Amino acid sequence: MPVCWNCGKPPRDIHFCADCGSLQPPPANYFDFFELERKLVLDAAELDRRFYALSRRLHPDVFFRRGERERQYSLDSTAILNDAYRTLKDPVKRAEYLLKENGFETGEQKSANVPPELLEEVFELNMALEESAKEEIAAALAKFAAMRGESDVEMARQFERYDQSRERGVLAEIRGLLNRRKYIQNLIETANGTR
Ligand SMILES: [Zn+2]
Repeated sequence: MPVCWNCGKPPRDIHFCADCGSLQPPPANYFDFFELERKLVLDAAELDRRFYALSRRLHPDVFFRRGERERQYSLDSTAILNDAYRTLKDPVKRAEYLLKENGFETGEQKSANVPPELLEEVFELNMALEESAKEEIAAALAKFAAMRGESDVEMARQFERYDQSRERGVLAEIRGLLNRRKYIQNLIETANGTR
């Protein structure tokens, strides 16, 4: 347990000291920042509530009469607060964050590889794009949007599985799902760009 930088007593929560009220240096980890368990299923309303409460408590205006150290912590905290909120609120970004924390690579590298089960669809989309076949492009878009929807349902299922089991194998499955979802998302954007 860390101690308050100002008075040396244990802080009340992760952000403030119970004894002297000093603002503490912000935790770098996004789950810690919101004092949330490292879980993939997250109550969005609860995250919102914590975000707005912390926005008020950590706002630089609150600290303008305080020492330089707390003014700096306030700026640092506010920056992390916004990044942490954006990341944890979005299920895909949240999962990417947790995967990275657990030593998995980020999804950027692999998105160039076509998932084998999508080869045919990608081929058809490329044909339609080449011929500017509007109806075929629209049909492909509808198909990819449905696939993305199925991915999201499956992802939610695996999120629950991970929270319950904490198994690394489930994270590996989620890594695969996210790569596939990213690929589908890119296809949708490509097809949309032509309309
Ligand atoms: Zn203190």
